[in-house]
Amino acid sequence: MIITDSYSRIFKTLRVSLTNTCNLACTYCVNENADYKQVSKFENQILKTENLLEIIIKLHKILQFKTIRLTGGEPTLYKNIVPLIQQLSSLDVKIKLTTNGFLLKNLIDKLNINELDSINVSLDAMDEDIFFRISKRRSLYKILEGIEAAKSKNIHVKLNAVILKNINSSQILPLLEYSFSKNISIRFLELMKMGHIKDGNFDNFFSQKDILKVIKSKYEFKKILREDAATANYWQTKSGNTFGIIANESEPFCADCNRLRLDSSGNIFGCLSSNTPLDISQIYENDYLLEEKLNLAMAQKQVLKFTGSNLSMLEIGG
Ligand code: SF4
Repeated sequence: MIITDSYSRIFKTLRVSLTNTCNLACTYCVNENADYKQVSKFENQILKTENLLEIIIKLHKILQFKTIRLTGGEPTLYKNIVPLIQQLSSLDVKIKLTTNGFLLKNLIDKLNINELDSINVSLDAMDEDIFFRISKRRSLYKILEGIEAAKSKNIHVKLNAVILKNINSSQILPLLEYSFSKNISIRFLELMKMGHIKDGNFDNFFSQKDILKVIKSKYEFKKILREDAATANYWQTKSGNTFGIIANESEPFCADCNRLRLDSSGNIFGCLSSNTPLDISQIYENDYLLEEKLNLAMAQKQVLKFTGSNLSMLEIGG
């Protein structure tokens, strides 16, 4: 079964949103008034782990993914995350995780080294008050503790920091220097028009150009060639440290997008801009019907750029 489009795009990365709950309430993900206690109760009807696993294995059998990325909401809140990672790690594919790091140390203690290929940890500030202002929780130390735990098990860690003008744009250099000191690669993310931000307040947008200007105030750097289907652009400083920017608004990456998304209810999305879930939870065993849904998913992809989504990061995991 070949699923492609007129731009020769194919699905090679599966992003699985395990849950739509979280233990933080970041301002760019949920609206200003929501706190983490509310967000942690959002859970909608989710598939049993064995059914979710069957769907992932079936999609992998057909599409031969290079990467399966576990996201959320917050994936470490997913009750069966350890057995799920253990079963997925027997497949011939890289298993990666995107987490806010709050429960990372607990998870790392339960995993064997080779079960996870890499972990992306969201870290939006080194300053406790700015961290609290964004996430509405005083837990920076827990995230840093989780990063250390992953490093101590030689798991490859990358940092993601969403930069908001006049909120944490002052944290670009402290975050960069933290990443250099830990020899961890950091990617700064432009704000995305998702959920409550889609038609809402976009005043905190801080562009790739703005981020580079801040870094240029202290470092000289040169651009590195972008990998195929990568979301981030990378630069290298004179001393060899690298950093990246995911410029969804100012330098879109749709042309060679290879991502397919699966949510915790068994819906697939071919594109983050699509608000139309394609439910495969009842049909994934029927190759003909599954092929039809996968072609519909591929047809959801943008040509030029992300056009925004009513779904929040909480629901589809970015
Ligand atoms: S907007 Fe859609 S097509 Fe473009 S990079 Fe995102 S998921 Fe891929």
